[in-house]
Amino acid sequence: MMRFGSPRRRGPSPTWAHPSGQRTRGFRSFSLRRPQLAVRRLRSAAFCALCAAAIASMVVTWVMASGPAKAEGPQISYFTLDNGLEVVVIPDHRTPVVTHMIWYRVGSADEQAGKSGLAHFLEHLMFKGTDKNPQGRFSQTLATIGGQENAFTTADYTGYFQRIAREYLPTVMEFEADRMAGLVLTNDNVLPERDVVLEEYNMRVANSPEARLGEQVAAALYLNHPYGRPVIGWRPELEKLNREDALDFYKRFYTPNNAVVVIAGDVTGAEVKALVEKTYGKVARRTEIAPRLRPQEPPPAGAPGDFGGPAGGPAQPAAQLPRALQRHRKAGAGRSARGAVPRARRR
Ligand SMILES: [Zn+2]
Repeated sequence: MMRFGSPRRRGPSPTWAHPSGQRTRGFRSFSLRRPQLAVRRLRSAAFCALCAAAIASMVVTWVMASGPAKAEGPQISYFTLDNGLEVVVIPDHRTPVVTHMIWYRVGSADEQAGKSGLAHFLEHLMFKGTDKNPQGRFSQTLATIGGQENAFTTADYTGYFQRIAREYLPTVMEFEADRMAGLVLTNDNVLPERDVVLEEYNMRVANSPEARLGEQVAAALYLNHPYGRPVIGWRPELEKLNREDALDFYKRFYTPNNAVVVIAGDVTGAEVKALVEKTYGKVARRTEIAPRLRPQEPPPAGAPGDFGGPAGGPAQPAAQLPRALQRHRKAGAGRSARGAVPRARRR
């Protein structure tokens, strides 16, 4: 379920200045002096990110469900590396461009209690660089080659993608494989980014009555399931997230056996397989991923089957009738003095 697409657009697009003076990636070029326009553009950008992710999600689902590629469609390849990374290749030779995506099976619903917003926070931190590629080099390279990139976090998955000319596919795969395991986080790069996320919270939630309402409605609708938790997190918890939280989360979920790489464009399955093995294939499986066990919602109060009865049956078959009603029934009356027997007691 797509609930929170990050509209950040990195690379060559303009950026806006954070109040602290720090440059913030993305958001195209919003003027803070024209908040309504900015909000409209923000919604539009978020909608685009939602659409892109939804379409990609449908493609992945279709690929998984359809099995071997059909003769009349693209020759889709699907394979798994020894380290557990799954790869989907969707050839499309109409233009010499490629979209490269990596989807991690982790989202806000995987956060532990008290750490809301951590999945999205880590999405930001994934741009902080590694020993091999210090902060900014990946985005700068993409800007230089005319590529585009973005990332998004939802309740169930986190994705990163780049769109580049086909000859640069090995380059982006090197970068992406490098940050799958080599991310370097320090207080110097984590804490300022937390301020960026808090500012994003202000823009997207705190200053939006619609978003505030949505936050409250989701929290009220989901009594037990983590979908009731906002993807961006509850602000008081967001303010306390730190480097250790981010690193723990990264080591627990960012591993090749918890990711799917999707490559669509002017490539073939065979050439991608060779590239994937040269790049992602060198990343060691970091941990085993336990099956997702999501808390289930209790049945809505008053619904058929509530109190343990069968669905569609009496609400509480073992409950005793009020004494007055028992006497009334023994006397042979099918109806109470006031009319129908309460619906819940009918059999
Ligand atoms: Zn964000």
